[in-house]
Amino acid sequence: MYVSGSPFREYKPLQPVREMRRNEFCWCTSGKKWKRCHAIREHQVQLPLPVLHSKFYNEAKVTGICFHPDAPEKCSGGAIRAHTIQKRTGLLEIAENGHVLSGRNSNPRTNTDDLQLIGINSASTFRGFCSFHDTITFRAAEIINNPTKLAAFLLSYRASCYEIYMKQVALPTLRFLRDNLDAGRSFDEQAEIQQELNAAIFSMKLGFGEHSRLKV
Ligand SMILES: [Zn+2]
Ligand SMILES: [Zn+2]
Repeated sequence: MYVSGSPFREYKPLQPVREMRRNEFCWCTSGKKWKRCHAIREHQVQLPLPVLHSKFYNEAKVTGICFHPDAPEKCSGGAIRAHTIQKRTGLLEIAENGHVLSGRNSNPRTNTDDLQLIGINSASTFRGFCSFHDTITFRAAEIINNPTKLAAFLLSYRASCYEIYMKQVALPTLRFLRDNLDAGRSFDEQAEIQQELNAAIFSMKLGFGEHSRLKV
């Protein structure tokens, strides 16, 4: 949902060029000088897909931050794995032997998207709240069989926090791909790959801004 104007007018496609002045900022908007960026990209070693994949997920790892408005005051340690779907009122209802099916892709070697059984403690979680603030903020949403307006609000608030969190994770990984995905490729391929990534980064930032605004 975008409510405040037409953001896509602000979108600027990249203007890939074969030659730049060596000390100019690169056309890919990495913020690096051209001589250290796309001047040499074609001659860099192309990383094998499994390596790229695992690096991608290492980049994606964030320690987590507490989204509570009072944070970091009173925070109890680092952010925990908070559930996006309530454990007692949601996940337990559909779990079998404490497990639910997840579409989370966790096998870079086979690159499969098969559904896997995972324990409900790690299902649909994100590191968005510390234990203390998670408990006091979402207590009302845990009340079983008593859907209140407050519970509905809290669940949608948490969903918004989840989206912000995911976009926070996605941005560095997209930037990582921008610096690595087109290594060893021809100029035309670089241009195409960078154009896609540029659009992805733009929309990710836009979504991040919108959700941050909605959350407040
Ligand atoms: Zn570049
Ligand atoms: Zn906290």
